[in-house]
Amino acid sequence: MIQRLFLTDSRLLEFDATVVARREHQGRPAVVLDRTAFYAESGGQPWDTGTLGEARVVAVVEDGGDVVHVLDRPMTGDRVKGRVDAGRRRDHVQQHHGQHLLSKAFVEVARAETIAFHLGTEVTTIDLDRPVTGDQAREAERRANEIVWEARPVRVETLSVAEARAQGLEPPDGVEAGVRVVEAAGFDRQPCGGTHPATTAEVGVVLLSALEKYKVGTRVSFVCGHRALDATARRRDVLDRLVSTLSAPLDELPAAAQKAKDDLATAERQSRGLLERALEGEARRLLDEARVEGAATRPAREGAPPALIVAAYDGWPPNDLRVLAQRLVALAPCVALLGSRADKAHLVFAQSEGLPHDVPALLKAAVEHLGGRGGGRGNLAQGGGDRLDLLDEALRRARDAVRARA
Ligand SMILES: [Zn+2]
Repeated sequence: MIQRLFLTDSRLLEFDATVVARREHQGRPAVVLDRTAFYAESGGQPWDTGTLGEARVVAVVEDGGDVVHVLDRPMTGDRVKGRVDAGRRRDHVQQHHGQHLLSKAFVEVARAETIAFHLGTEVTTIDLDRPVTGDQAREAERRANEIVWEARPVRVETLSVAEARAQGLEPPDGVEAGVRVVEAAGFDRQPCGGTHPATTAEVGVVLLSALEKYKVGTRVSFVCGHRALDATARRRDVLDRLVSTLSAPLDELPAAAQKAKDDLATAERQSRGLLERALEGEARRLLDEARVEGAATRPAREGAPPALIVAAYDGWPPNDLRVLAQRLVALAPCVALLGSRADKAHLVFAQSEGLPHDVPALLKAAVEHLGGRGGGRGNLAQGGGDRLDLLDEALRRARDAVRARA
């Protein structure tokens, strides 16, 4: 039976042991020792890392009562010195014991029981069996921290199954003898095989980071100890950048952000209004120009035929071309053949109601000339291609096609 040194002393990080078996675990060398300070992955808490002699311990897993140390290289010799990584152990102790305190605080505050626990690389979560409110969560957080600051001793004792049950402590599945009970003095007492601190003060601080609905209950994300410090530092960096970007002190950030958003919406509304007026003006200018040209080339006795507008712009987005085309065909009977040289060559063709041209076919021929695609229905079609250099020629060809039908 292997001696699990962390069960009696979570601070013991260096130890001597004897190799009792050598194995292979998922393609890597592995050893079983007579005693170990390495915690194997269990109960939502990840394994310890460290070294056995020259070899790195990359994983520690339970296997049928054995603790299997998975190594990055084969190990020679039967006597070995083990060293557990102190930083990772302390991190796990802080998150794990913080979880005990927080879970108990949720029982006190909201009668919410913890039904799942996950210690992640960034955030740790517990799942509660019922919904809790934001106020209850803040109260549980305050209560857990109170216990931390009282530096209560954490005691470990081993009870028989009968003794545990007599005290209302249900042994974990598979535990038939020697129920290990962890107690944060006078606050929380429960069966647990994990690594714990000597006093609650080592948890440092318990900081909730998120509360979300999960199944029938609530998932609570939190960080303890040094992770809380890191999380706070990250938030401070983000806030410092916002203070500088919005030129507002911390307390006024929400108001400043709201004002920036409102100002932007107002500016967008104004610019849309200005753009509409500009496009309306451009439409009237194009129609006037077409009328003057038409009058110069037309015998005076004929009635005014629909105007033919051909125009190309630099940098216009296709949406502006479309709005301009729609204004043109609404203002006077006309055919509008509009193009733009922007990220690529864009075309928008349109005609007023009742005119006889096949606008989608005209557009299709023109965009094919530009090496692109496009389409439309009825009196409006649009598209584009990569050949910016052929835009003028494509417009000329379309104009000639319209004139040939007129
Ligand atoms: Zn525990």
